[in-house]
Amino acid sequence: MNRRYSGGVWEERFLPRLSSTQIKNLQKKDSLIILPIGAVEQHGPHLPVFTDTILAETVLEESLKYVPIDSNIWFLPSIPYGKSNEHLGRAGTFSLSSSTLQSLILDIGRSLKQSGFRRLLLFNAHGGNNDLLNLIAREVRIETDLMVFRLNVGGLALDEKFLDEKEKLLGIHGGDYETSLIMASYPNWVREEEFSAEYPRLLQESMYLRFQKSNFAWTIDDVSVSGILGNAKTASAEKGRRIYEQHGKQVAEMLVEMMNFEIDCLTDKESIEIKK
Ligand SMILES: [Zn+2]
Repeated sequence: MNRRYSGGVWEERFLPRLSSTQIKNLQKKDSLIILPIGAVEQHGPHLPVFTDTILAETVLEESLKYVPIDSNIWFLPSIPYGKSNEHLGRAGTFSLSSSTLQSLILDIGRSLKQSGFRRLLLFNAHGGNNDLLNLIAREVRIETDLMVFRLNVGGLALDEKFLDEKEKLLGIHGGDYETSLIMASYPNWVREEEFSAEYPRLLQESMYLRFQKSNFAWTIDDVSVSGILGNAKTASAEKGRRIYEQHGKQVAEMLVEMMNFEIDCLTDKESIEIKK
């Protein structure tokens, strides 16, 4: 029988594989609980609509290979759906509303608090979730007193050689980057005969407005006919494997830092009090 939750990190770090008693007995002080978040949305004619959730889980799996064996780091089942209303209307997009996603994450945060945990990482692989998760992270922090971290896979450092400048700026959806990663992890789910390239006329039309910084609200119909942003034709499984490896090593260091982070050490309370 082919079991879904088997092998590697699913045996070692998937929190719900433990019993209630085991979870009760976990050391909570230095624990880090990771909630992967993805999306189910159109990614052009060549990639599965599950692309972002696959990316969240696979980058996480890769990174957990590199954390020290005794790290107190666990992950929860993913939230497979995200806020994808920028892609609604294209077949295969299944979006949560902002309020639903916020309620869901708040409920999970409250439950973690009740179980005695102290740190939650929102591990996101869908760009359309970023702004909302920033807001939600603070809500969870204020309501539950958990330390809440955010990590966006799309914002991880990437070696210069992997993508050219245009692809870095504009290739944010179903382009070289995402296609290479899915080719490396789920090659049978990729339709290579459908590979294409499309870029919006952003660099010609604007000096300052970009997807990354000074921003503008958009839906996919504003910026793409095919549904993709970027060039899938330059993608390769080998590139994807190397990106996973680079991401994995970087994320592992970030996870260890989060696990050891104490937010109440950030102010110098004693010396300020002395001065008063
Ligand atoms: Zn994506």
